[in-house]
Amino acid sequence: MSDTVDPFARDETRAAARARVAAAAIPRGYSGALHVVYFNALALTVIGYAVAGLDRPRAFEVALAPLFVVFANAFEWWIHRGPMHHPVKGLRELYDRHTLSHHVYFTDRDMEIESARELKLVLFPPFALPFFIVLTSPLPIAAGLLISANAARIFFASAIGYYLVYEWMHLLHHLPKASWIGRTLFVTAARDHHTRHHDRAS
Ligand SMILES: [Zn+2]
Ligand SMILES: [Zn+2]
Repeated sequence: MSDTVDPFARDETRAAARARVAAAAIPRGYSGALHVVYFNALALTVIGYAVAGLDRPRAFEVALAPLFVVFANAFEWWIHRGPMHHPVKGLRELYDRHTLSHHVYFTDRDMEIESARELKLVLFPPFALPFFIVLTSPLPIAAGLLISANAARIFFASAIGYYLVYEWMHLLHHLPKASWIGRTLFVTAARDHHTRHHDRAS
């Protein structure tokens, strides 16, 4: 794509590239632990609120959950392949944070975080979850109007559940390989797949 900036074209060492990205992206007072608490607390609160308000859900309403998860997966696929990897007007922030920061800092040869501060470069920014909720809101609203209030609640619980699992999975991919969790068969296989996504040559 002609309008796509090549983030790897700079003539700089890996150490210089990582230092540049970290200096620009990680604020001085940033806390990785707080970031982890924040996205879990927010996602679980919304899921809990949605589920607690269910009014005797019928079987067909519950059966919509996998459909909504498939939708969330398709949305993630679109936003990742699209605006996260190609600059799009109005969504440029996604490209800057993902391609220009995350993919420059973590390549197939440097996938692991070494400190909690680097979580800033792995996790979605705090505004992402509220932003995604607003962006996809026509669907639960339509589900609420056309099907039932339960369907809208099940949409929220499924889509945000997917977001939470995605965020955790991505975090696992970037944990140190030598850590106990990084050595498990499940994380090793999943990390290999994600490492290919970070391969600059591909
Ligand atoms: Zn990517
Ligand atoms: Zn990654």
